[in-house]
Parts: sequence; structure tokens; C-alpha cells
Amino acid sequence: MSLTTHHRQDLPPEEVVTFYDRESGARGIIALHSTALGPAAGGCRLWRYADHQAATLDALRLAEGMALKNALAELPFGGGKAVICLPDGPFDRAALFRAFGREVASLKGRYVTAEDVGTSVADMSEVATQTHHVAGLPPKGAQPGGDPSPWTALGVLQAMRAAVRHRLGAELSDMTVAVQGLGHVGFALCELLHEAGATLIVAEPRSEVAARAADRFGAMVMSSRALLSARADVFAPCALGGVLNAQSVADLKASVVCGAANNQLADDAMAERLAERDILYAPDFLVNAGGIVNVAGEYLGWRKAEVRRRVLAIGMRMGDTLAHAASAGLTPHHAARAIAQDRMARGPRVQAQAA
Ligand code: NAD
Repeated sequence: MSLTTHHRQDLPPEEVVTFYDRESGARGIIALHSTALGPAAGGCRLWRYADHQAATLDALRLAEGMALKNALAELPFGGGKAVICLPDGPFDRAALFRAFGREVASLKGRYVTAEDVGTSVADMSEVATQTHHVAGLPPKGAQPGGDPSPWTALGVLQAMRAAVRHRLGAELSDMTVAVQGLGHVGFALCELLHEAGATLIVAEPRSEVAARAADRFGAMVMSSRALLSARADVFAPCALGGVLNAQSVADLKASVVCGAANNQLADDAMAERLAERDILYAPDFLVNAGGIVNVAGEYLGWRKAEVRRRVLAIGMRMGDTLAHAASAGLTPHHAARAIAQDRMARGPRVQAQAA
């Protein structure tokens, strides 16, 4: 694999659209970080923001993350993200998402939306009444679609297997894995790890879910804080972003960090801190791409077998990235960024399409 530079200068977003629809109260931002490799794809978040600037910053940060994730997963997509500010009072949810759908339509295929934090399949069905540049709709027969979480979990498992082999020369059956967060992805990951013979430690604020994991997988349950310094080989963050900060990185006992959560590093410098402690950090945007692969498959009409093939390839990509990082003297995070940015710099630009 040849890269023109190790640290390519980060590019500004291509386009930022601010929208407001008086009738429905829909207010938000669509950020198109890059369309170099195809339409900017990334979900739509409905969230309460302190102000317009906070919402814009979130959209920009998330859009860049999607661009890196899609490029690295070798999808024919650029990266974008939409955020809608949760209205203060009562609102007509269907009307709000139809208004958002009209904004997506106005971008003529340069942006493809899907569900994300705070939005659902039903919301995307409203968007779909205005534009066909939307995924995350109810699956049709055996076609890809619906909840992407099982695919995300499968991708995390593949990446974890490759990371454990690289760092510890071991198999998952010999590992103790600490899973933080037993939501859609975390619980499915526990299921796969249990099947692979791993020992599990878990943390989850919903005590009945934690109890179910103890019962089904023999998992030891801990508080989220204690989990960070638990005696485990692998730490798998599957809840919140920003979990790897100066304190938690200093406390970690695991040799490998590999999980589904987005934006795990509180800041990029944490990648170096982890490397200094000889902890292998598997880049989140490489590890958790299984869900967007399923979304891409739905939008582009792939068969499930093609989605599966591409999700399983995440393990090989992890291995390749670690090998490249070692030979180039980069952290895995910076190596993965460089590979993604290089791909974007060389990609073909997308053409506008009908709404
Ligand atoms: P989810 O909301 O279903 O699950 C999150 C879980 O974390 C919940 O069970 C919640 O109770 C738990 N949690 C909250 N705070 C916690 C804490 N302090 N300690 C331990 N657990 C805590 O979300 P999800 O869909 O499973 O996604 C998990 C993470 O993976 C998120 O960061 C998400 O952005 C990322 N991700 C998800 C997908 C996907 O396909 N769903 C794809 C890519 C990335």
C-alpha cells in the first residue's frame, strides 16, 4: 500500500447547508465533508443542542468521521451528516422529517441520509416520501436493510480477532473481554464473543440487561468506572464517545481497545498516549463500519451475501492497517486516517442525480 504523505492536511468540508422550515419547526444542518468517492452518506441525528454553533460543530465532526469510515471501508460513498435540533415544545414529528426530506431532495443525490441517534426507521419512512436518497428503511424480503447493529457487531468481532492476534499472538477463546454498554451492538457482540469462547466482563446501567448477560454468557458485571481498570485483555467500548481520555488511558489494564462506539478518543493525542502504554487501539471508524456497509447495501441494492463479505473483510483491513502502521511508525489511528484521506484525495467526484 503506498501513501503519498503520512499526515495529509485535513480538508475543510465541501458544503454546509443550514435549513429552517417555519411550518414544521425543522431546523438543522447538513454537512457534506466529502463527495470525492461518491454521495456523502451518513445518518441524521435528532438532538438537543445548546445553540446553532454547537449543532454545526457536531455535524462537521460527524461528517468528517463518516468520510473516513466510508473511504476506509472502500464504499462508493463520501461522508456527510445531518443534525436536526430537537424543538423546544411539542412538534409534529412526521412533518419535521418530511421537511428534512425536502432538504435532502434539494441536494440532488449529493447527500444520502439514514437513521442515527434520536431517529428511527419510521422517521426515515417519512423522509422517503420526499426523496429516495435515504436508507434505513424496513427491509424488503431478504434484501439488506433495517437494524444495522448485528452487522456492526460482526465487524467488531473480526477487527478484534485481528487485533488480538497482532498484539498478543492469541485467539479470542483465550481472552477476557470487557464490554462497556450492552445496547444494540454491545449485546450482539457479547453473543458472538461468547460463541467464540471468550470470557466476558460487562458494564451496563440497565441492570436487567446486565443480569441477562450474566445469565446467558456467564459474564461478570461491574460498574462502568470499574470496568475501565478491570483485569481484561481487551476493552470494548460500545456505549459512549470520548471514553478514552488521559485518566482512563492511564487506568486501562487491557492490551487491546476495540469496540463499536463512535469517536472513542477524547482527542487525537490519546492515540499516542495509548501507543506509549503499548495498548493497541483499533481505530473506531475502521472497526465499526459494519452498520454503514449494511446501509450501503440497502441503498445500492446489494445482496446480503455481499454485505456479509464486506463486513468480514473488516478483519483483514484491520490486519493490513496494523502492518502498515508498524512499518510506517504511525499509530493505527493515524495510519487508518492517512489511508482514508489518501483514498479520498484520489477518488472520482460524484455527479448530481434526480431527487
Ligand atoms: P445503544 O443506545 O443501543 O446502546 C448503548 C448502551 O450503552 C445502552 O444500553 C446504554 O444503557 C449503555 N450505556 C450508557 N451509558 C453507559 C455507561 N456509562 N457505561 C456502560 N454502558 C452505558 O447504541 P448502539 O446502537 O448499541 O451503539 C453503541 C455505540 O456504537 C454508539 O457509540 C454508536 O454511535 C456506535 N455505533 C453503532 C452502530 C450501530 O450499528 N448501531 C454503528 C456504528 C457505531
